[in-house]
Parts: sequence; C-alpha cells; structure tokens
Amino acid sequence: MTRKKIVAGNWKMNNGLQETEILINELLAETNHSGCEVMVAPSFVSLKTAIDSLNDNDIEVVSQNVHQSNDGAYTGEVSAKMLSSIGIKTTIIGHSERREYFSETHEILKNKVDISLQNSIKIIFCFGEELKDRKTNNHFNIISNQISESLFHLSSSDWNNIILAYEPIWAIGTGETASSDQVQEMHSFIRNFIAQKYSNELAQKISILYGGSVKPNNAKEIFSMTDVDGGLIGGASLKSKDFFSIVNSF
Ligand code: PEP
Repeated sequence: MTRKKIVAGNWKMNNGLQETEILINELLAETNHSGCEVMVAPSFVSLKTAIDSLNDNDIEVVSQNVHQSNDGAYTGEVSAKMLSSIGIKTTIIGHSERREYFSETHEILKNKVDISLQNSIKIIFCFGEELKDRKTNNHFNIISNQISESLFHLSSSDWNNIILAYEPIWAIGTGETASSDQVQEMHSFIRNFIAQKYSNELAQKISILYGGSVKPNNAKEIFSMTDVDGGLIGGASLKSKDFFSIVNSF
C-alpha cells in the first residue's frame, strides 16, 4: 500500500506579510520536492497572498485553524466558508496549542471537523499526549480517546479527507523528539485502532504524520518507519533550507 507522503509546515503566529513573502520566495526557489506533497500554513492574514504566490507551484497553502460555525456573531473568528472562498482546501484542526490555550474540547473539534467537510475542506487532525500520560503509561488511552471522540462519527468515505498528525506535546518545540521506535509504536497503534472501528483497508490508506521537533538531522530516520507518512513541522518550517531538507528526507 502506497500512502500519500506529506510534509506540512505550521508557521503558527510567526511572520507578518513581508516576512511571509520572503519565505515564500525562498520556497519557490526550491524546486526539488518530488518525494512528497508539501503544505505550508501561514497565519490568516497572509493566506491569500500565499495562495496567489504559490498557485502555480505544487506547494499547498493550508489554514492553521477554522471556526466551528459557518458565519455569525463570533468576533475575531474565521469560518470554513470564508477559507473556502479564498481557495483553501485543507485546514489543521486540534493542534495541542489550540486545545490548551483556547480550550478546544473533543466536541468543539468534532464540530470543526464536520463544518470543514461540509465546506469541502480536508483536515489535518492533530492529537498527542502529555509527558505525564506517557510516564503513567496512559498514552494509548489518551490518543484513542482524542481520535474516537472527534472522528469516529465520520463515515468511511469522510476518511478520504482526513490526514492524522500524532504530536506528543512533550516533543513540540522542546527539541526533544520521540524516538523512531516510540513514533512507530504509536502510529501502528493508531492504524490498528482505526482498522478495528472501520476496516483494515481504510486504515492502510490513512496518512499519519509525526510532529514534534522534527529537524533535518532526524527526519530521515523518523520518515523511514513503516507507519510514518510524513511530518508536521513547526520551528524548522520557518527556515526554508531546513524545511526542504526535511521535505527531501524520504
Ligand atoms: C508543531 O507545533 O506542530 C510542531 C511539530 O512544532 P515543532 O516542530 O517546533 O516541535
């Protein structure tokens, strides 16, 4: 089974329009990325510019977040309908920073998933355990709960639009990466968990990315694991050379 290989850069709340344009120009200069699909997630204010600049290139511009309603009195929020209107086709949902700092619950994330699919927007769905969960051997429970509570109401065909991203919180932005064995163990667990609920055929088709301090010096080893289909990259995606070194690590 050949699954889609994907490397996605999450720029988070970094880079104004000018810095975004500089980074995009650097990305456009990197021509070699045939081994996988490449995505970048700039801030909302730069999305349209990024789309216009990368339109003819095969780097997809994706959103970092989406609101769970189509429109209405939600000051400061951005809906799936709005994202769709500027050409966004994929959004990240459930990043641990959204869960922690913006109190996004399983139920809210489930609604975000549904409204995105209704607007024909694909999803990179993030989840991951805290260090204390791993230390108490509760990490498999935490992950299965995060997945089942927000995604297991979906139909089999909905899963054509879902990419998963396992991001252990203790490895995000800390420089501490999960070992390739820990990543493989969790990705294989996730695939089996999905196979039990749906089917092995469906589970084998889902791309599962790893995120958490992926850098040029560790990407190759992580990406070589059987159930790892790419990465969601934070810090290293802000430097074009590092990002493309990771992109070319398959
Ligand atoms: C992330 O925030 O999704 C992430 C993986 O960050 P970093 O690569 O900086 O650990």
